[in-house]
Amino acid sequence: MNTYTQTFEADTGKILNIVINSLYSDRDIFLRELLSNASDAIQKRKFLGQTNQSLLNNDADSIEIIINTKKKIVEIVDTGIGLTENELAETLGTIAKSGTSAFLQEMEGEENSKDAAKTLIGQFGVGFYSAFMVADKVKVLSRKAGTKQVNSWESDGQSGFSIGKSDEKQAVGTKIKLFLKKDAKEFAAPDKIKALIKKYSDHISFPINIKEADGEIEQVNSATAIWTKSASQISKEEYKDFYNSTFGTFDEPFATLHNKSEGTLEFTNLLYIPKTAPFDLFDPERKTKINLYINRVFISNDLDGVIPTWLRFIKGILDTTSLDLNVSREMVQNNPVLKKISKSLTKRVLSELKKRLKKDDEAYDAFWGQFGKVLKEGLYEDIENKDKIAEIIKVHSFKEDKLITLQSYVESMVDGQDKIFILTADTLAQAKSSPHLEGFKAKGIDVLLMTDPIDAFWTSQMKTFQEKDFVSISREKYDIAKLGDVKDEDVEAAQSNDETYTPIIKESLGDLVEDVKTSKNLVDSPVRLVAGEGGLDFNLERILKAQNPDFEGSKKILEINSNHELIKKLPALTSELQKSLCRVLFEQARILDGEMPSDSQQFSKDLIAIGLKLG
Ligand code: ADP
Ligand code: MG
Repeated sequence: MNTYTQTFEADTGKILNIVINSLYSDRDIFLRELLSNASDAIQKRKFLGQTNQSLLNNDADSIEIIINTKKKIVEIVDTGIGLTENELAETLGTIAKSGTSAFLQEMEGEENSKDAAKTLIGQFGVGFYSAFMVADKVKVLSRKAGTKQVNSWESDGQSGFSIGKSDEKQAVGTKIKLFLKKDAKEFAAPDKIKALIKKYSDHISFPINIKEADGEIEQVNSATAIWTKSASQISKEEYKDFYNSTFGTFDEPFATLHNKSEGTLEFTNLLYIPKTAPFDLFDPERKTKINLYINRVFISNDLDGVIPTWLRFIKGILDTTSLDLNVSREMVQNNPVLKKISKSLTKRVLSELKKRLKKDDEAYDAFWGQFGKVLKEGLYEDIENKDKIAEIIKVHSFKEDKLITLQSYVESMVDGQDKIFILTADTLAQAKSSPHLEGFKAKGIDVLLMTDPIDAFWTSQMKTFQEKDFVSISREKYDIAKLGDVKDEDVEAAQSNDETYTPIIKESLGDLVEDVKTSKNLVDSPVRLVAGEGGLDFNLERILKAQNPDFEGSKKILEINSNHELIKKLPALTSELQKSLCRVLFEQARILDGEMPSDSQQFSKDLIAIGLKLG
């Protein structure tokens, strides 16, 4: 035997501790994790065997659990693909490879609460390491298909692991030997193990056999893939257990879609829409979580193209007989049949979401809070489905102060209104206190408040909903004077705009603004800034600036409220103070739009100058 020892990568020990301690009461899950790995390994071997017969198992595939109650040792033996020495080091020597630091950060934020740990562990799939919840030593013996060498890996789950070649003889596959902790001896009882298999691993499509000390062998699971059964045979609880055990989740799914399609395209889907978002939803490296099977043989769980990226939070199974098993991954990925199936899955999900939206506002809004941002990507990425997606999006209504659909916005438009008014801002609070809203407030016209960075993008890409333009009210191009109930005083106010002030302000501000105009939309605030002709939505401009420091942006138009006391004071002031007051008004309008003052030092000097004058 020739062995070397290696310490764990930085942070691994820490994570293991979190896993082991936070999941203490849930340590039952270790078994489902190891069994799902065993099943994956058998599936992999079958798949590779399609193109290389010599790798196939000539006997029946199975997973054996050998229990030695006396010695408190549990062994899990599979007839899967097996691992080489290098693979052992790579797959079991590192943990949560991509997300280690993110994991720890999240944990700290959550004060190590158990629930957070559960979800996080699900997200990272630290599956194999859950063995250390019940064992203080784990030994893996593995022989890779197509080789004779048996390799060993051993660890206490704390310091590191040793790895090497073993002299033991073994059939192709992997044996995981758990030396149970003192306080985990319950898992050396066959009845306990049987109960766990029934609960979490019944769906594993290979027989799971238990072998007791007296040599008796018993198959425990029913070994039928859950999705091949008809929906009427499956209880809600079974659906949930399968979702939790297969995808390492702990929540109840928001929706479960189990359908069979027959005809030119034959496939079965069992899709889950989760309730909670994984932390890595916006990680560009993140793969979809749909397990693709071709005629019950597992192909891949990270294939692009099974589901569009704007539905990447969906987890589930797709099993089809319409694809050919003997093709490479790449060919499956680019196969037109897969594209067709993907389209039909997308339709199903959209129609399910629409149903949910109609059925239960509160539940849908909770779902929307988790995944709305991702769904909105579809509005500009998926030309074919964007209209359907637009039907299920929710946006904050200023008037109703809650999330509403675009449809209900359109239905409550006032007389003469043919635009959808929107205001983008960083936060809801900022949007609500914006001077841009004042005219709308006064006339009872609703404005949609949008706070996701991509809102400015999709609205400008989509341009319309039901033929009504999206109009960003931080731009100039609209006139609400004639909308809704037009009262005489409205018209009067709009007409009696006093033009005496604009020349003074223009003179004072010079190059800072493109123009100064008298506003028809301000009520309480003295001024606001709007984009000029051809200018961009403010929030969009801010995003572009953040991406490109050289991006200048366009000059704004300052709109003034000629009925405002401060504005009326202007003509009586000295030209110095006029300048100061105008600059302060300008900067303050910027601040209300979520910007920094353009010249902070001057701003503070101006404030002092005005303050002294008042005093
Ligand atoms: P995941 O299953 O999500 O990939 P795990 O921590 O459960 O994460 O397993 C890590 C990796 O170790 C697997 O992806 C697989 O490559 C390898 N592995 C674990 N158990 C087995 C097994 N019984 N046979 C072959 N490979 C295995
Ligand atoms: Mg696993």
